[in-house]
Amino acid sequence: MTEQVVATNEVSCGVEPAARRPRRVAASKPAAGRGRREAAAPKTAAERFGVLPRPSLDYTPEVAAATAHLYERVAHVIPAIEWPFHAPYVKAINDLKKVRDAVILAHNYMTPEIYHCVADFVGDSLQLARLAEKTSAKVIVQGGVHFMAETSKVLSPEKTVLIPDGKAGCSLAASITAEDVRLLRRRYPGVPVVAYVNTSAEVKAEVDVTCTSSNAIEVVESFGVDRVICLPDQYLARWVAANSKVKIITWKGSCEVHERFTGEELEAYRAADPNVRIIAHPECPPDVIAASDFAGSTAKMIDFVKTVPVGGRVVLVTECSMADNVAAEAPGVEFVRPCNLCPHMKRITLPKILDALLEMKEEVVVDPEVAARARRAVERMIHLKN
Ligand code: SF4
Repeated sequence: MTEQVVATNEVSCGVEPAARRPRRVAASKPAAGRGRREAAAPKTAAERFGVLPRPSLDYTPEVAAATAHLYERVAHVIPAIEWPFHAPYVKAINDLKKVRDAVILAHNYMTPEIYHCVADFVGDSLQLARLAEKTSAKVIVQGGVHFMAETSKVLSPEKTVLIPDGKAGCSLAASITAEDVRLLRRRYPGVPVVAYVNTSAEVKAEVDVTCTSSNAIEVVESFGVDRVICLPDQYLARWVAANSKVKIITWKGSCEVHERFTGEELEAYRAADPNVRIIAHPECPPDVIAASDFAGSTAKMIDFVKTVPVGGRVVLVTECSMADNVAAEAPGVEFVRPCNLCPHMKRITLPKILDALLEMKEEVVVDPEVAARARRAVERMIHLKN
C-alpha cells in the first residue's frame, strides 16, 4: 500500500501559525522629500459612484406584492410574521442592483433571505470564483467572507468589489501568512504548494495553485509528483491524503465551525435511525468523516442530497444555513441539522448589503502586483484540465 503521510505543520519548531502570533504593524513610509509632488490618493468607490439617499423601508402593499414570489422560496424557514422586516430590504436591494449595475455573489452559507431573495449567483467558493470572472456587471457585492471578496477582486481587477462587512474573516485564512508560505518553501525546496481558496490574496500570491474542497484531490494529483504541500487546513489535507497516493505536507489551520463536530455526535444520530444518510464537509475532523456516508464540498453535498429518495433523512454536517438553503431544493427530504453557525458569514446581513450599495462600501483593494501573482494561482485551478 502506498504510504500516505500528513506531516502536520512540520515547521512548528520555532514557527507558530500566524493566528497565534502577534501581528506586525508595517513601519510607516518616510515622508516624501521637499519639492516632490505627493501622488494623489485614489478616489474611493463612494467618490467614484456617489452616495444614494436611503429609500423608505416601510412594509407597504407595493412592497408585499413585489416580494411575494420571493417569500415563497423561503417560507419553509422564515415565519410569515418575520417577512415584513426582510421584504423592504429585499425590494430596496433588488432595485439598487439595477441602479449600480451590481451583482450579489452569495456563498452557500448565507442566510436564506440573502441566498434566495437578493443573490444573483450562489455557490461554493469555486463556483463563485468562476462567476466573478465571467460577470459583466461593474460592481460585485460579495455575500461571503473577506478572502472570497479578495478572490473576486483578484479575478476581476477592473470591477469594484464590495464586502458589506470588512470584519467578515475566516479562522482558516487567518491561520497562515505569506511569510509562513515562504518559510515552508525554504524548508521543502521544489515541493509544489497548493493553497485552499480560504487564504488571503498575499498567501495565494506565494503558491503554485489554489484548490477548493471540490477539486483538492484533482489539483494535488495534477503535479504528477509524490509529495505536495497542501495548506492551511489540516483536516482537508488529511482527507486528500486518505483519498490519494500523494504524500501531503500540511499546516495546522482549521475551520472553527467544522472542527466542532464530533464522530460521537454522528454515531448517536445513526443509532437513533440506522437508515439516516450522513453527509460531511471535508473540513471536519477525521473521526467525523469516518462516521459519514459521504464527504464532499458544499456543491457536491447538494448533488448527493438530490440522490436521496423522497422520505429519506439526511444529517448535513456543515454550517447551519447550508441545510436551510438545500432544504428548498430537496423538499421531499427530511434534514437533521447539527447546527454550527459561522460567525464570520453571519456578519453579512440584508441591512449591511443595502448600506454597501447605497454608500459603495467597503471596497476591497488588493495590491496590483500581489493580485497578478494570486490570479495566476487561482486561474491555474479554474482552468485545470485532466
Ligand atoms: S465556515 Fe469555516 S472556513 Fe468557512 S468562512 Fe467560516 S470559519 Fe472560514
